[in-house]
Amino acid sequence: MNAITFRGVGDVRLEEAPDPKVVDAGDVVIRITTSAICGSDLHQYHGRGGGLVEPGAVMGHEFMGVVEEVGAGVREVRAGDRVIVPFSVSCGTCEWCRERLPTQCTTTGRAVFGGRFGHVFPGGQAEYIRVPFADHLCEKVPADMSDEEAIFLGDILSTGYFCAENGGIRPGDSVAVFGAGPVGLLAMQSAQLFGPARLFAVDRVGYRLTRAEECGAEAVHLDRGDPGDQLRALTGGRGPDVVLECVGHETPFAQAIHAVRPGGTVSSVGVYVETSMGFPVREAFFKDLRLHMGICNARNYIKPLMPLVRRGKLTPTLIITHTMPLGEAPWGYAIFDRKQDQAIKVMLKP
Ligand code: NAD
Ligand code: ZN
Ligand code: ZN
Repeated sequence: MNAITFRGVGDVRLEEAPDPKVVDAGDVVIRITTSAICGSDLHQYHGRGGGLVEPGAVMGHEFMGVVEEVGAGVREVRAGDRVIVPFSVSCGTCEWCRERLPTQCTTTGRAVFGGRFGHVFPGGQAEYIRVPFADHLCEKVPADMSDEEAIFLGDILSTGYFCAENGGIRPGDSVAVFGAGPVGLLAMQSAQLFGPARLFAVDRVGYRLTRAEECGAEAVHLDRGDPGDQLRALTGGRGPDVVLECVGHETPFAQAIHAVRPGGTVSSVGVYVETSMGFPVREAFFKDLRLHMGICNARNYIKPLMPLVRRGKLTPTLIITHTMPLGEAPWGYAIFDRKQDQAIKVMLKP
């Protein structure tokens, strides 16, 4: 089959890869109808955090499609089912899966499709993918939902919602979102469900801030000065009650802590692949802030968020700027990474 493979820093290619097969009785093979490029793929693309995937590894963890082959032990999923799958690979039965923390799955070693941690499961920027533990991982998609409406439930929409939920937003709060990329924009849409009086979007990319305004946010441009100072000026000197960090670097993490009001909450979903980083710990301590960070257990959110998308309360399709054949993914990675051609979310059609 054709797949997008990792060949080195800044180098992904369309190559021939082995056809996925049913290996274990609980597996299915899915024919992928849509996949996407995630901000987390960029960490790999940048060679960040060391420990890269093997050259030739199939990239991608945002995908959906139609079940084509079914293992002998699969009970719920059938050939022909149209399904969405979360980005992290989990068994559904180990201690952590039973605690509803599938990202901590001990059976898969906290694996992610196309990822470098835990057991290796080839990714979804491809024509086909093997999905283990299919009865647990596959969620059927209703016929009246498009691929574009459904696919982000497996990763960035669930993550954006998780970020807003962990912010503990109360009606009337002021909320600032660092990062107006795909995750930040969906965190903004999700934040709106909790009734904030003010919503701010912090970024330095003009066209992304314009998209943030379409999600009801007021733009705070990083080039116009320290974001904490700008946010304090906009909130009567207080600072936002809740800051959602959707970038994944040391600078915005520190800026989020500087910006939040005393006693406020910082909720961070940016991925930190480094083992450690600097942290304005004194300020965090004396501010009495609440901090939540982590990977999203997207499996838990697919079912509850699906009706919100179907009823138009969340409109994840708003972030899609490009749809291209799988073979053009190297260009898709380049424009998404460099913020060229107004790129926000790049979709791939195998
Ligand atoms: P992205 O790279 O397109 O978006 C990041 C945005 O942050 C960009 O628009 C960039 O201009 C902006 N930015 C950079 N520095 C900034 C700063 N100091 N302040 C404010 N904005 C700044 O990526 P994305 O797809 O939106 O993903 C965002 C992050 O979310 C990544 O780190 C990704 O790995 C992570 N992520 C986490 C999970 C999870 O489970 N926790 C899931 C999916 C993605
Ligand atoms: Zn992702
Ligand atoms: Zn498990």
